[in-house]
Amino acid sequence: MSDSKSAPLGRMRNIGIIAHIDAGKTTTTERILYYSGKEHRMGEVHEGTTVMDYLPDEQQRGITITAAATTFYWLDHQINLIDTPGHVDFTAEVERSLRVLDGAVVIFCGVGGVEAQSETVWRQADRYGVPRVAFINKLDRSGSGVDHVMEEMRERLGAFPVQLQLPIGKEDDFRGVIDLVTMKMLLFDEESLGAKIITGEIPGDMRAAAEEARQRLLEAVADATDALTEKFLAEEDFSVDEIRAGLRILTLNRRIVPVLCGSSLRNKGVQPLLDAVVYYLPSPKDMPPIRGYDPKDYRREILCHPSRKEPLAALAFKVLEDQHGSLVFCRIYAGEMRENEKIIVANSGRKERVSHLWRMHAKDRERLEAAGPGEIVAVSGFRFAGTGDTLCDERRLLLLEPPHFPATVISMAVETRNNDDRDRLLDVLQKICREDPTFRYAVNEETGQLLISGMGELHLDIIKTRIIRDYRVPINTGRPRVTYRESVQEAGQGRARFEQTIAGQEHFAEVSVEVTPDSSALTPSIEIAADALAIPGAYREAVEEGLRAGCLSGPLGGYPLINLRIRVIGGAAREKSSSGMAFTAAAEEALRRAVENGGALLLEPIMLLEIAAPDEFLGGIIHDLNGRHAEIQEIDSRGHLRVVRARAPLAEMFGYATTVRSLSAGRVTYTMEPCAFAPVARQQWSDILGYQLPAREALGER
Ligand code: GDP
Ligand code: MG
Repeated sequence: MSDSKSAPLGRMRNIGIIAHIDAGKTTTTERILYYSGKEHRMGEVHEGTTVMDYLPDEQQRGITITAAATTFYWLDHQINLIDTPGHVDFTAEVERSLRVLDGAVVIFCGVGGVEAQSETVWRQADRYGVPRVAFINKLDRSGSGVDHVMEEMRERLGAFPVQLQLPIGKEDDFRGVIDLVTMKMLLFDEESLGAKIITGEIPGDMRAAAEEARQRLLEAVADATDALTEKFLAEEDFSVDEIRAGLRILTLNRRIVPVLCGSSLRNKGVQPLLDAVVYYLPSPKDMPPIRGYDPKDYRREILCHPSRKEPLAALAFKVLEDQHGSLVFCRIYAGEMRENEKIIVANSGRKERVSHLWRMHAKDRERLEAAGPGEIVAVSGFRFAGTGDTLCDERRLLLLEPPHFPATVISMAVETRNNDDRDRLLDVLQKICREDPTFRYAVNEETGQLLISGMGELHLDIIKTRIIRDYRVPINTGRPRVTYRESVQEAGQGRARFEQTIAGQEHFAEVSVEVTPDSSALTPSIEIAADALAIPGAYREAVEEGLRAGCLSGPLGGYPLINLRIRVIGGAAREKSSSGMAFTAAAEEALRRAVENGGALLLEPIMLLEIAAPDEFLGGIIHDLNGRHAEIQEIDSRGHLRVVRARAPLAEMFGYATTVRSLSAGRVTYTMEPCAFAPVARQQWSDILGYQLPAREALGER
């Protein structure tokens, strides 16, 4: 066992590699581990790159475990690489990684350029404010190039890419790069699998192009500081260190994206990419202090600094279950985590003990006594902590913002043969839930029916297979069903009074609530207005509890409420006869009335589809999409394929995998993910809700 031999903060990088599926993430990562000496063999990609290929049996789960995070060293820096495997919950995987890493390498394919999913991951990185460097890969392929990718980065991503290298040779003849910072030629020795880099002078026929490209680079660098601007205007040359320092400032401020290029498969260009990670991506010290808030008072902000002296603040971002128990991956932001010590899971208030602390390496793990700020570690011994939970200690309770996970859109009923199996199943579901934040399960209290829900048919199908095959619990499932949501059309108010005598004790409460539509509040926000202080402080929690319960079950069909803000605007209590129970009940009822008064709305999940089809299948695919009321947004070409982007209601998309397979003999591939909730046309409501709607007036609509 070793004590945490972590690098000083300034020499640490927490990075992720993000890309469209097939851009070369896995191939590049393999080279990185090889060149950094982490792996002594260079593997080739044999594992699947499609959604279907991800079936985690024991052996594959071993791979997944090492894939969640790994640490290697480069130029005397400790680099923690967080992997973002591209499978069914692609979006969720990227979200959770982006939440805990400080910088990212974005890989583009030199042929495909900025593809739809590159755009998705780029926007996600924007959302988390993550500085990036870009790598244009596959320059050995025919039709590849750097210029069109740069252009698409500007046009489609609104980025400001700055080229640091020029490729030498095209396609089959691609041999290496010219480094515009040092003005050297870099060739990659084939015999050593690219490990040996041969540095030379720029070939004569490329001199002029290199000078010109360098000029553009210097122009960009000149923007970094006043001193550099002055120097540039005086037409003085920049030193290599000055260029790197300038690029670093601009990258950290997210004003530019340095662009490198190569071919991972042909072992070219990977080491300069690693240099760029060290030179241009942030260390934990470069990041602004992370914000948390007081769980008892959401308005009180708490800033955490990356210091060992501060109390612990860490975020659990991934959980893996195996036969030995669970492994919880955490990013530590402040303070220390130590073996055998207790921590508090701020979200539930539960205490947990760190039995072992690990630093994950490609194939091994190293036991640590302690780990500090900036570290990514895996903890064994936790029983409750799940993805998105904040870990802290008694001296400072705080909640860090969890990653955003999309809401589940599909559910199905699950049955077991007997109660024994059912108990085992509940255990298994709890495990899967901790691993996968886009999976939920619930037991209907009235009917006892067990419902599981997730991101799509395929997602639930994979989980079903895992339950039956890996956990060996036989189950039957019902038909998949859409999970609808409810919201409110316009602002509305509702007041409810609870007044009952229960077992000789009077219970009284009155609550007034206002709801306002807000499409940014996927989870309804709850606020108690200052002038609602007629509700005694002691009952505030009871009121919130009632509102949260009300949010789980809207007035139309009992679907969760989303896209609204809730404000408690008034209330009344009686000294002798008020109780928490009365306030909870009154709040829930007041919310229901407010939503009805504002006009309850039924929402359905809309899916974003990207379909890649050879030309001859395009007609059939489009015809089928039209029949599903899909809205076709774009038809593009990518190589010899036609790429269709469309949006369609999930309710219309059941069985799509089967249809596509039979339409194209398996030659058409697609991805589908939820992208929004949209109002359901009113004439469909009664079909979905299973009852006739009362007249509009009775629903309180104006
Ligand atoms: P990922 O889905 O982003 O992890 O992509 P992979 O690393 O699995 O690569 C997808 C496919 O592209 C595999 O067949 C790789 O062999 C291939 N590939 C990756 N990098 C290159 C490259 O530089 N040149 C060529 N020609 N193919 C590559
Ligand atoms: Mg891969």
